[in-house]
Amino acid sequence: MVTHEDIQGALRGVIDPELGVDIVELGMVDDIVIDGGNVTIKIALTIAACPMRDQIETDVVRRINSIQGVDDVTINIAAMSKSQRAALMEKARLRARENAIATMVSPTTRVIAISSGKGGVGKSSLTANLAIALDDLGYKVGLLDADIWGFSLPRILGVLDNRLEAGEDRKIEPIVAYGIELVSTGLIIEDEQTALMWRGLMLSKALEQFLRDVRWSKDLDYLLVDMPPGTGDIQMALGRLLPQAEMIVVTTPQKAAQKVAARVADMARRSFMPVLGVIENMSGFTTEDGRHYKLFGEGGGQELAAQIGVPLLAQIPLDPFLVEGGDTGRPVAKFHPDGPAGSAIREAAQRLVATIPPAEDDSCGTRMDLIAQRLADLEAARS
Ligand code: ADP
Repeated sequence: MVTHEDIQGALRGVIDPELGVDIVELGMVDDIVIDGGNVTIKIALTIAACPMRDQIETDVVRRINSIQGVDDVTINIAAMSKSQRAALMEKARLRARENAIATMVSPTTRVIAISSGKGGVGKSSLTANLAIALDDLGYKVGLLDADIWGFSLPRILGVLDNRLEAGEDRKIEPIVAYGIELVSTGLIIEDEQTALMWRGLMLSKALEQFLRDVRWSKDLDYLLVDMPPGTGDIQMALGRLLPQAEMIVVTTPQKAAQKVAARVADMARRSFMPVLGVIENMSGFTTEDGRHYKLFGEGGGQELAAQIGVPLLAQIPLDPFLVEGGDTGRPVAKFHPDGPAGSAIREAAQRLVATIPPAEDDSCGTRMDLIAQRLADLEAARS
């Protein structure tokens, strides 16, 4: 049974890219009609012909479709009335003030959490290499290591000896590795001893700090988040702090891995985080003379994808270059882009962009002018 709550929860993840506030809070969701598995949503935009309409519409459809039990979504777009517009501006203004410090991640940045049921399936290796492949496609990418105590991104990206530093305003500058903005606990702690001290202090706060206090570039197209394995606090916190986040689940072809991965996807759904797809890693090994070995079984990725009703985005084969690249800080997507893993990862990045294209920067000027004018009017009226 699909409920209004499910729909509202999912819609709270659709952020108006210009205002940085979700469409429910902005009062843009006019009406929700649920008829079995058919959902009809009426959305009021400030201006119906706004080019951003497409993006809001596709985001709504993707999110609603990720709710179990939904078969079909119809979106009706209408223009806001004058009073609706005034209320929206008021909300946006209030939120702009309250939220100035909420996170430093731009509302136009696509946030993709990369999760797995258990450790060792290659989640971090894939996250780092996907970031590189997206950068090579011309997108600006950030990488947040939310695997707070299992961090491995600094090594994979060859910046193990770098340390994060804060500027005068106490904001932390990300380390840039191969063009990717990176933040990780591995770039803070000095040794195991300090790690222990930080442990109690920071664990619950680390993700929040990485989102609030790091000066992520405003024009990041994608922020990939390397999640700790399994379900837990970090997964909940991410959904709360960045409601626009969506998830990719990494698994191996093994059936046992698939089961635990399904739990992660289930938890994501319950916190209204859509699952974009599954990536299967370690999908067999092909020798130089063309013999193929299914070292970790087969079919786990496809089955998981079918089970949770999302596409299988990619199958990444075993590749010794990936291991070597991870140890030496020379990621395979950069240094062996045409090898088995490198080429599969590059294809995965392309599919990812097709599935979740970067936010439109082609916003409507007139709408922006209108918003600026209204905000100025409201400000003037108050003072
Ligand atoms: P996780 O983040 O899931 O714990 P890692 O990315 O740390 O996993 O990978 C675990 C190990 O498996 C690493 O040594 C990594 O180099 C190796 N690995 C991951 N994916 C592949 C692959 N496609 N081919 C070969 N080795 C891989």
